[in-house]
Amino acid sequence: MARRTFSLHTVPGLIACGLVAGAVLAVAVIGWRLVLLARGAIEVMPDEPEASSAAGEPQPDLRERSLLIPVKGVAPASLTDNFNDARAGGLRVHHALDIMATRGTPVLAVEDGRIVRLHHGGAGGITVYQLDGSGRYGYYYAHLERYADGLAEGQKVTRGDVLGYVGTTGNAPPNAPHLHFAIYEVADPKRPWRGRPIDPFPLWR
Ligand SMILES: [Zn+2]
Repeated sequence: MARRTFSLHTVPGLIACGLVAGAVLAVAVIGWRLVLLARGAIEVMPDEPEASSAAGEPQPDLRERSLLIPVKGVAPASLTDNFNDARAGGLRVHHALDIMATRGTPVLAVEDGRIVRLHHGGAGGITVYQLDGSGRYGYYYAHLERYADGLAEGQKVTRGDVLGYVGTTGNAPPNAPHLHFAIYEVADPKRPWRGRPIDPFPLWR
């Protein structure tokens, strides 16, 4: 009986060779990507800001800035502190301030700075990442209905500029429009979505 061999001259042989070549190529591509990831050459940007260290209270330098409440027409007395609330069934801590408002209410820049990221996806929905002028603090605005017309990454903004409008994108309940607003002390300027979470609520007491 003739020994069975895979030959490129037979159809099954061709198919087998194609499958093997495809598998080798896939492993090589995935492997190389993993190597790049491990080296930090490819940046995986998260949907939400990443905490680089334990959360904290605002320091005097942040208090001195007199940040604007980022939703038009909202009075300090109507704010409720929900920074330490459990989220995702207790899997994580909120680390932000939810500001309830009517859908479509303008969302305002809390201070001068620059838009560093516009991201649509994940729990935050339509989001804006802003850095202050010095790059020390990052501000994250989430669940927007939409962006302000023409808003772009890299754009400079002034305190009070409209960034977008209150909505329920992402995981916000459809019947409870609000702005999810977070402050974080940036750990690495190259990763302006990552830092130490700061409770915004004490700034407006
Ligand atoms: Zn929230």
